Amino acid sequence: MPFDAIVVGSGACGGWAALELAKAGMKVLMLEAGSHVDQKDFRHTFLYQMDYRGQGKPGLLRRYGGSERNYRIMLDNEENPYTTAPGTVYRWGRSRVLGGRSLHWARASDRMAEYEFKAASRDGYGMDWAVSYADMKPYYDRVESFIGVNAALEGFPQFPDGIFQPPMPLNCAETIFTAASKSLGWPVTPRRLAQLTRTLNNRPPCHYCGNCVNGCDVGAMFNTISTTLPPALKTGNLEVRTDSVVAHVRMNNENRAQGVTYIERYTKKPVDVDAKYIILAGSTLENTRLMLLSAKGGLANSSGTLGQYMIDQVGGSAVAGILPKLKGAPSRLDDGKSSGITVPNFQNIDQKTARKDFIRGYVMNATGGQTEYPMFAASFPGYGSEWKKEIKSRYAAQARVWIAGGEMLARKENFVELDPEVKDHWGIPVLKIHFTHCDNDRKIIADFHEKAEELFRKAGGEVMAGFGRGGPAGFPGGAGSPDAPPNPANADRQRPLGGSIHEVGTARMSASPKDGVLNSFCRTHDIPNLYVFGGNAFPSSGDKHPTLTMMALTVRGCDHLIAQAKGRAS
Ligand SMILES: Cc1cc2nc3c(=O)[nH]c(=O)nc-3n(C[C@H](O)[C@H](O)[C@H](O)COP(=O)(O)OP(=O)(O)OC[C@H]3O[C@@H](n4cnc5c(N)ncnc54)[C@H](O)[C@@H]3O)c2cc1C
Ligand code: SF4
Repeated sequence: MPFDAIVVGSGACGGWAALELAKAGMKVLMLEAGSHVDQKDFRHTFLYQMDYRGQGKPGLLRRYGGSERNYRIMLDNEENPYTTAPGTVYRWGRSRVLGGRSLHWARASDRMAEYEFKAASRDGYGMDWAVSYADMKPYYDRVESFIGVNAALEGFPQFPDGIFQPPMPLNCAETIFTAASKSLGWPVTPRRLAQLTRTLNNRPPCHYCGNCVNGCDVGAMFNTISTTLPPALKTGNLEVRTDSVVAHVRMNNENRAQGVTYIERYTKKPVDVDAKYIILAGSTLENTRLMLLSAKGGLANSSGTLGQYMIDQVGGSAVAGILPKLKGAPSRLDDGKSSGITVPNFQNIDQKTARKDFIRGYVMNATGGQTEYPMFAASFPGYGSEWKKEIKSRYAAQARVWIAGGEMLARKENFVELDPEVKDHWGIPVLKIHFTHCDNDRKIIADFHEKAEELFRKAGGEVMAGFGRGGPAGFPGGAGSPDAPPNPANADRQRPLGGSIHEVGTARMSASPKDGVLNSFCRTHDIPNLYVFGGNAFPSSGDKHPTLTMMALTVRGCDHLIAQAKGRAS
């Protein structure tokens, strides 16, 4: 069939774009570089049932991201290399599969607040967003109502409430941390997660198996294959082609995108397909790579900013140890319930809370309790039955506070370009990443450590070496997650940048075409039928998890595209 729209990628944003456009009656072709996968393919496996106890056959996890349990829904690094500039230590966490990273993301879903959209006006650094909270609110409402976010209504101005399902109950450690945060006078709330606590559109509530990062076999967490793809396919307007690696966008002589060329993953045969609208939703950096590949100097790059102002929230830091109150407590299924608590940012949100030594802020999360495997054991001194007793007594008392959305400043010096030499498995040039932290970013990490220790001690906790990583399954750095350390002895090692997996920017939105690549609807300023959905549009990262905002921007952009297709928008 002739296509009205081509959507590149099937992750969180691609799934939403396909749904919105197919629902509006448009004929849509979704091209996904990875393989088809189904919910029924996901299995529960305990570490003790696995030959390599989750670490994988030697060499396996160097080739694939993730763990022995979930590498099949990650990415083959040999097929998909990238390079980094000297001085850059950046790990780009990717996934190539139907559903993309939505299959194993940690589901934290919080709205950005007005102070983040207009941060530049407040502190003078960088550029404001071309949208306000009022523009985004109806789209946050729509996305939350459909994906299902469990959370508590709090009324914190810096952490806007939304359309929520009831929150998950807190476990013992989280209850202790909540009381500690309140007694410090800090805001606190259960972590907001796109994970059902009530049935929604035939999706069942979560049964707390803790398998989320390996793929949910019942569809209780939001991902493309459980939530957006089924209704999109039901319209009869969507065709999905997996194992289709898009290589570039083709233009016509009238400054419109004509179509794309993709390469069949296994035969390596190039195929041309055309459509009235082209939507890039292959994830932030892949979208930018495609634009760089599609024209000399980059497609839609009259501003010269394509590839620049890459941001990734500062992450990877945690303060951890035990809560002595819980020492010797019986074993519980703490890692089956993946909520935790959030301490929203309470610094630099207005004049009253302004800091003199750094701008912007961060969110803290905390949790604790029993994990699938006591990762701390390897660095705990001793041996024999006494040692085992000590490990067991601390097993349910583990606790950690980690940084969630440390805002990193957008800087021109952090950018991506095409590597002039290295190509991927299909002969397509790869990205070269230039990325470092600045002083403000480092001050945010240092301040987090100070505050996290304060919270930990207020909770009566003992900070301990060796507890820095390996929290409950489902959390960044948690057991079985792609961030889990390959070797517990490396538990406190400094992670390379990129560990927070919140990369955004590189085609920022701007009110004026001279300052950025995209307009406020994520359509390129230069090409009227080319839209880019993902984190590309972010001129600043804010301190919230980014994906809810990416999805809300996608739905808003689709509304604009549909209006444009019907002749109701320019
Ligand atoms: C372990 C982990 C935990 C996370 N936790 C959170 C969290 O708690 N909260 C949060 O907000 N965010 C979180 N994130 C980030 C979140 O997953 C991403 O922001 C989100 O998935 C981005 O959606 P996307 O659709 O832009 O890209 P993706 O989900 O990455 O999907 C992109 C898709 O496009 C496909 N693709 C790429 N290039 C091509 C091509 N050339 N041709 C065809 N197809 C292509 C890929 O195969 C992939 O399927 C987490 C990420 C990870 C890895
Ligand atoms: S814990 Fe809930 S959301 Fe996660 S995999 Fe299990 S049922 Fe699915």
